[in-house]
Amino acid sequence: MNAKEIAIVGAGPAGVSAAIYLKRYGMVPVLFEKELVGGKTNYTERIENYPGYLEEKGPQLADRFSDQLRRFGIKPIYSAVESLTRNEDGSFHLRSRKREDDFRYVILANGLSERPYHLPGEEAFQRRGISRCAICDGPFFQGKDVLVIGSGNAAFEEANYLATICSSVSLIARRTAFRADQAVVDTFRRFANTTIYAPYEAVSCQGRESLESVTIRNRESGEERTLSCAGLFLYVGAIPVTDYVQVEGVKDENGYLVADPETMETKAKNLFAVGDCRTTVLRQVTTAVSDGSLAATKIHDDYLRGGQD
Ligand SMILES: Cc1cc2nc3c(=O)[nH]c(=O)nc-3n(C[C@H](O)[C@H](O)[C@H](O)COP(=O)(O)OP(=O)(O)OC[C@H]3O[C@@H](n4cnc5c(N)ncnc54)[C@H](O)[C@@H]3O)c2cc1C
Repeated sequence: MNAKEIAIVGAGPAGVSAAIYLKRYGMVPVLFEKELVGGKTNYTERIENYPGYLEEKGPQLADRFSDQLRRFGIKPIYSAVESLTRNEDGSFHLRSRKREDDFRYVILANGLSERPYHLPGEEAFQRRGISRCAICDGPFFQGKDVLVIGSGNAAFEEANYLATICSSVSLIARRTAFRADQAVVDTFRRFANTTIYAPYEAVSCQGRESLESVTIRNRESGEERTLSCAGLFLYVGAIPVTDYVQVEGVKDENGYLVADPETMETKAKNLFAVGDCRTTVLRQVTTAVSDGSLAATKIHDDYLRGGQD
């Protein structure tokens, strides 16, 4: 198989895993990455739930991904893929600034973009108190006071988890009517160490080396109060950035890619979606690397069968 046959969009855990598996199957993927190999792991303080790593700094794991690609002779093309369309013969046309080509198979592994919250001071405390993942970072705030911003299921579910390990959890919601299911809200209210502030919004955050407090404002009365906290978890949503994928019938109404959970193939034959960018119940490094390996395996099987189902 020549180098033009398989493209992978995104070199986060999902894309890197797919690339490694394909290379070991004797295939040669072309890997596009718009920023850094490792994707979100570059922005993760510590990872301690990936088997084999007791306490890995996220960027160190990203470095290992790069090393492994190098070892397998895979050189990413550092360029954002700007459009992906389907050709009449069923192949895909992919365009980036550095390369434009047709590919028989494409694996979409472009992750998610976090929705910005626009909280003054937020930038200074990224990885120093502000997180968007309680499953990942919650244990680092064990026994401490934390805030959660959001009112959907993700916010309440993660807040419920934090309530079991943190000293206190305050949830800040913009409206008094929550988007979350009543059951998860009720669970949150049952904890003795939880408080809901609604309708409030965060207006600033303060600290020296790391986050120490957040100021919130009542959206009706304008009253402000400052809450001490070591951690702030933002659940204001993530945005799937899949506009560049101009292939019919492969996205849900929110722009997430929909793939078969066993093969990772979308409704469009030979187009795969892996990792955070697809509809799934868990978005982690483990699930991303699993998805990548399954897509690579399906492509290999398909290739061996000469594209016959
Ligand atoms: C703060 C935080 C902490 C976390 N902690 C943990 C943890 O402790 N344990 C854990 O298992 N998981 C953790 N996660 C989740 C984990 O990082 C993700 O689930 C995982 O990185 C998803 O991998 P992915 O390859 O699907 O996507 P990503 O890691 O997002 O990678 C996608 C890649 O695609 C690239 N890309 C996007 N669009 C294009 C384009 N058009 N062209 C080319 N390239 C493109 C991006 O630059 C990026 O490199 C955490 C996430 C966050 C935000």
